[in-house]
Amino acid sequence: MHESLDPTLAAALDEPLGPPPVPLFDIHMHSGTLEATADYVKAARLYGVDRACNLPLGGLSEAMADRFGDFFLPCAWPRIDRDPANAIDWDHFHSTWIDAFQRLLDAGIRYFKFKLAPSDGPPNGLWLDDARIAPLLDRCAAEGILVQVHAAQPDCWWPGHYDPAVCGPKQAYLDQLERVLANHPTLKVLSVHMGSNPEHLDYLARLMDTYPGYHIDTSATKWVVRELSARPEAARAFFLRYSDRICFGSDLVVRDGLDFTYYTSRFHVQRMMWETDARTVSMIRDPDAPPGGPHLRGLALPGDVLARLYRANAERLLGERQAGGAAAVPRA
Ligand SMILES: [Zn+2]
Repeated sequence: MHESLDPTLAAALDEPLGPPPVPLFDIHMHSGTLEATADYVKAARLYGVDRACNLPLGGLSEAMADRFGDFFLPCAWPRIDRDPANAIDWDHFHSTWIDAFQRLLDAGIRYFKFKLAPSDGPPNGLWLDDARIAPLLDRCAAEGILVQVHAAQPDCWWPGHYDPAVCGPKQAYLDQLERVLANHPTLKVLSVHMGSNPEHLDYLARLMDTYPGYHIDTSATKWVVRELSARPEAARAFFLRYSDRICFGSDLVVRDGLDFTYYTSRFHVQRMMWETDARTVSMIRDPDAPPGGPHLRGLALPGDVLARLYRANAERLLGERQAGGAAAVPRA
């Protein structure tokens, strides 16, 4: 049993939930080695996931497609967060991502990822609305290519994990994304981890109401379950209101040596959160949870909302054809 799971509660994984109302599309995961990725795919299938957007940490090999067919949709990920801003080779950036844009489309790329949050190290001082990135975002907007953004981290991490003198306030990271939305009104954006701000649904609602291209995913299970379970009524109302703007995502990071239950637990807990009215303790241990937690208060979302959350929104955003050829599941 993986150490991130409560051993008693994780016994529920021996009895996976029944079939989902529609097959799930995981819009956000990271593959690893072929062998470890096979565990992810097995766990995903067990919980009804049959397609996933892959942000490979080690490069997407042809062997991956040979082994898993079209399960994974490849992504382009300029890692401009890794170097100090003054060390980024912008000529290389331009030739790799902008000059080669059509070649990337021809290779099946349907979305770009950017991470500009302080996580792997201190931030590099670059913001996503930098003028040197704007031509790529313009191109994505013109071609209907989705841009996935990881903008910030949990509120509760700022005092303990990050030195405000080095990282600045969380709001600055959220603001960079709002400037992008304002600068590129037709760009389709997926802001991961519930917009990096599940603590503040009013803030997310304001962005939803202001920017039609703004979408979010449900990835980072611990963080999302912790914060939505703290305000289940508001969360349910939010999901009903913006059901065509939220996509299911796991953000599972495949690594060698992880227990199979690490993968199944994220699908199990999220499906409990969206499909059931459970009032329980989450099986995923959470050092940031309130006393007695981590709580899980399920939202029991209706079937039409689940259909959008699990699949239709992702297919629409990625330009994937849906069963029956419909452009999208209409809003109720
Ligand atoms: Zn991720």
